[in-house]
Amino acid sequence: MLDLVVKGGQVVTPQGVARLDIGVQGETIVALGWPGTLTSDAARTVDASGKIVVPGGIEPHAHIAIPVPEIWAGTPDVMTQPPEAATRAAAFGGVTTVVDFAGDLSLTPDPNAPRMAIAQAVERRRDVFRGHAYTDFTFHYILAGEVVPETIGQIGEAIQDGVASFKIFTTFRPIRVPYGHLSRIFEEVAKHGGIMAVHAEEDDVVTYMTETLKREGRAQGHNLHLVHNNLSEDLAFRHVIRLARHAGSAIYFVHTTAKEGVAAIAEARAAGQPVYGEALHNYLEFTCEDYKKPGGTAIHTYPAIKFPDDRDALLAGLMDGRLATTATDEYTTHKAYKLAGDTIETVCGGHNGIETRMPVAFKKFVVERNMPLTRFVDITSANAARILGLFPRKGAIRPGSDADLVLIDPAVKKTIALSDLHADADYSIWDGFACHGYPVMTILRGKVIVENGKLLGSSSDGKWLPRRVSGDILSRPAL
Ligand SMILES: [Zn+2]
Repeated sequence: MLDLVVKGGQVVTPQGVARLDIGVQGETIVALGWPGTLTSDAARTVDASGKIVVPGGIEPHAHIAIPVPEIWAGTPDVMTQPPEAATRAAAFGGVTTVVDFAGDLSLTPDPNAPRMAIAQAVERRRDVFRGHAYTDFTFHYILAGEVVPETIGQIGEAIQDGVASFKIFTTFRPIRVPYGHLSRIFEEVAKHGGIMAVHAEEDDVVTYMTETLKREGRAQGHNLHLVHNNLSEDLAFRHVIRLARHAGSAIYFVHTTAKEGVAAIAEARAAGQPVYGEALHNYLEFTCEDYKKPGGTAIHTYPAIKFPDDRDALLAGLMDGRLATTATDEYTTHKAYKLAGDTIETVCGGHNGIETRMPVAFKKFVVERNMPLTRFVDITSANAARILGLFPRKGAIRPGSDADLVLIDPAVKKTIALSDLHADADYSIWDGFACHGYPVMTILRGKVIVENGKLLGSSSDGKWLPRRVSGDILSRPAL
């Protein structure tokens, strides 16, 4: 007997979209059948008629329960929201897997803090989430500053243990990793079958523009895009791509923000390099003009939101395959902290977007741009699973995969209101955004965790996920 049958929905599988019944046994999808063929004796049947059934969303970029720099929050000891709140919001937004971070989590690390082994840091981070997560979770590992040989020596073992991606920043002192160290890290990660997640900005440009704007009296927060600018993205993406070519490593560019970044990724891919790009959903909606509105820097995530033609390049890149994933850079604080800093050096990064990414993407791409549903699944789930080593356990509706299923009702029209959201937050930059199509049920490994606006899951449901990236993804632009 099947434990669950989801019947009659428009099911988006890797092969295409069809009206299918989905059979679930325990935590796993065990069968797909034509309508009516699986329903005979299931313990529970969910009627998905009129709904679109997609794999649970994967949030590839979240910063949960980490210290907010005092220079941003205006006060010490502020943390981003805890995993209970973030994964609860994720579940309501159709997300069943959250990729957060372990390792050097602070932007302003204590230089005297004892250095932790990678395995120990990952275990410590698992402890933060275990028993506190409504969704599954896994971590990129952040390497910061002048990474010592001892740490680089632990990369291979970490990849063996399922930590498949390493994140570095090329700006933000003191956590930026200098290019020399990077080259060594790229080689080591490539050698052991991992992938690099890169926040690429040209530190010289960022530093120079910061000093210049301060000197000229133009250091207001609404000028962030002049500091973290198009030139910086152009130079940094190309440096990183060139480094990766020498090292033989695959690159996942987090938050591509400019047309120059999209172009650099496209050129590298055309030359056969395994380079993949992410875009944040706030960059698909807002432009730097919005920074000037009252409280306008609430939309800000680093690097910086740029011009209309950059936004259009990101939208086009997600449509045509130059970009691979949507993410949020989830980083939820209360409004007072988010808006405490109002200069180019003090505006708080990040926003509470983990719940809104899927419905915003559905509206922008499926409704407004006729994106095929298979491509919508790619940019919200499947590509993140493939690039970060979760596929086919995650990101696919097919026998053998985890039964992470989301029912989207394409008929729902609703305007996002803060009171309808589930984060530990007192603002949303998406307040007032008109959705068309919205997740109405979220199933995590066979268990219904959200149904019709009710939370049915438990914060002990989420499990840590080991990851392994396929050779295909690492050797060529495979998607
Ligand atoms: Zn981030």
